[in-house]
Amino acid sequence: RLFYDKNCPLDSLKGKTIVFIGYGNQGRAQALNLSEQLNPAPKIIIANIRDSYSSRAERDGFGFTSDWMQVAAEADVLFLLVPDQVQPKLFNDSIAPSLKKSACIVVASGYNVFYKYLNIADSNDIVMVAPRMIGTSVRSRYESGEGFPCFVSVEQNGTGKAWDMALALSRGIGATKGGVIESSAREETLMDLFAEQALWPTIIATFNEAYSTLKGLGCSDEALVHEMWMSKEPAEIFEKAAEDGFVKQLVHHSSVSQYGQLKGSFEVDTTAIKKEFKRIAEERVLNGAFAKEFMSLDKDGPGVEKKLEELYAKANESELAKGEARVRERLGLK
Ligand code: NDP
Repeated sequence: RLFYDKNCPLDSLKGKTIVFIGYGNQGRAQALNLSEQLNPAPKIIIANIRDSYSSRAERDGFGFTSDWMQVAAEADVLFLLVPDQVQPKLFNDSIAPSLKKSACIVVASGYNVFYKYLNIADSNDIVMVAPRMIGTSVRSRYESGEGFPCFVSVEQNGTGKAWDMALALSRGIGATKGGVIESSAREETLMDLFAEQALWPTIIATFNEAYSTLKGLGCSDEALVHEMWMSKEPAEIFEKAAEDGFVKQLVHHSSVSQYGQLKGSFEVDTTAIKKEFKRIAEERVLNGAFAKEFMSLDKDGPGVEKKLEELYAKANESELAKGEARVRERLGLK
């Protein structure tokens, strides 16, 4: 199902106290859009740790607190917009105990709901309103009068009115101008984590292999980095794919290119990729193995930041990364 402005009355939000836990990428954009969309503006309170984000919330004209327990007790609607790995401890220890029985909890990603990391009472509503956009675009698209792609779902209907609230919130944050797509925490998590763990890693690995193969055949670093990505051709191809169609965009390429790409796409052996994709979807994402591993990094392991440093160091050792570093240095680029 697709929902537009006309299917999404804002009535459910009237007189409600709306709390945003987190005022980062998504929190700021969604709170600003919501405050401008409703007339009169609803009561919005921002809860965040005291830092540069909190001053920003106050400069933007919102009420602000760092008292999670007290603000949770006031919330009719509670947007949980802190990073996914932070949500379980913060919510379970400092928010859930004082939450109203009928409060609606809103997540922008399915992760913690699908993996059941949040202790939410059966009487509460849980809805997912998940923009497919970074926060700055959520704001700029609203300001220019466009909508933005967004998934909506009801994960728990404690009050029996969760769908009305989910649709009102989707419109409230400015998403329904372009059509909001019905989804689920499972679908959102599966697609998101699959893209991050299967699709994009395959693309990164493919670029690495292509670079090494062509370098081995005498191509220079300068020529390779420009041919492969620095010209921004791949970005333009994806832009055209979104505008014209994934296959149709090929008509913008030369006949030699169209023939090569179409024929090649049928001939490449995808047996190993198919097997690997299925393994990642089923044995890493859907069964929760990845989530368990990721969540344990901060709890019992080296910590997410330390692990990322190690992975970046390894990625920077590839022939492609080293070649690019040489070119950037020669060109005086960062
Ligand atoms: P951000 O990284 O921008 O951080 C959000 C807020 O969380 C900030 O105000 C930050 O404050 C606060 N925060 C961070 N750590 C803690 C902590 N330990 N305790 C309390 N507060 C903390 O998050 P996003 O906006 O990127 O993500 C929020 C949600 O939106 C997530 O569920 C994410 O999956 C989802 N989402 C994100 C998208 C994106 O493009 N970023 C797109 C769609 C959905 P401070 O930095 O001051 O600590």
